[in-house]
Amino acid sequence: LIIPSWQEFCQHIKDIFLKCRDITDGKVATYIPQLSRVDPNKWGVSICTVDGQRASWGDCKEPFCFQSISKAFNYAIAASELGADVVHSYVGQEPSGRLFNEICLDNNDKPHNPMVNSGAIIVTALINNKLNLADRFDSMINAYRQIAGGEYIGFNNAVFLSERQTADRNYALSYYMKEKKCFPPETTNLTDALDFYFQLCSLETNCEALSVMAATLANGGVCPITEERCVKNRPCRDVLSLMNSCGMYDYSGQFSFHVGLPAKSGVSGNLMIVIPNLVGIAIWSPPLDLLGNSVRGVAFCKELITRFNFHTYDSL
Ligand code: GLN
Repeated sequence: LIIPSWQEFCQHIKDIFLKCRDITDGKVATYIPQLSRVDPNKWGVSICTVDGQRASWGDCKEPFCFQSISKAFNYAIAASELGADVVHSYVGQEPSGRLFNEICLDNNDKPHNPMVNSGAIIVTALINNKLNLADRFDSMINAYRQIAGGEYIGFNNAVFLSERQTADRNYALSYYMKEKKCFPPETTNLTDALDFYFQLCSLETNCEALSVMAATLANGGVCPITEERCVKNRPCRDVLSLMNSCGMYDYSGQFSFHVGLPAKSGVSGNLMIVIPNLVGIAIWSPPLDLLGNSVRGVAFCKELITRFNFHTYDSL
């Protein structure tokens, strides 16, 4: 067993869960009605170790949309299919230091990294782009399910339709990138490219399933429940590096400093943390701080690091 005193470990996680439940700061995202209607009191935490030990607290079966957490999996899947070199001929690895949806490119006229909208839109445009949209969607939802060991992955059509309806910024970003020749040559239709990006943001999961997905990354790309390899070795390393430097919006540098673990957050208040070779953690609490991260989620991570030596440099 990877965590020998499992009960004791779980008691600590439960303590942190209860402590963070008292936090009521933050505001639920309101840019689409489907997110603004979510109950701000929802609070779920799930953990899954690399040898499949599981535990959950709170609203761990309630569905929420992946939103920006999809960016991490889309990148891992694209890089597994195409290789890191191909993907990174279109997108960089540098934190942008700018807002996640800002209209800006790096000095080579490429998106800064796959975790900001520009980079994520380009990455999704690379995935299976010789197939039609229906087949591309099927293949992605299947890839997500494989990474989740067959656990809950759904699709929220209302969120998709809302995202598409309030997409001016993402359209502006995409036209700017089209002008700068950022897209792969196969991309003839920006509407299709953006629809696919919004559809992947609108995939749903819950804490239980997301913890398995995080554990697959913690386990080098092999799902700990099914023992299936779903993400290749190198892309797994690469997505963790990117999560470490760019996964928490404009808090990424501070998160890396204080918590020292690869993580990715999304605007639905979801957060996944990967402790390599040990455990995947999924957190959901909708109220966000000013930078767009779940308030309870960030507090949970900081408390985790005060109790355990999980920070990358704690071992020194
Ligand atoms: N889906 C939204 C967008 O693409 C928000 C993504 C997010 O979680 N920040 O702009």
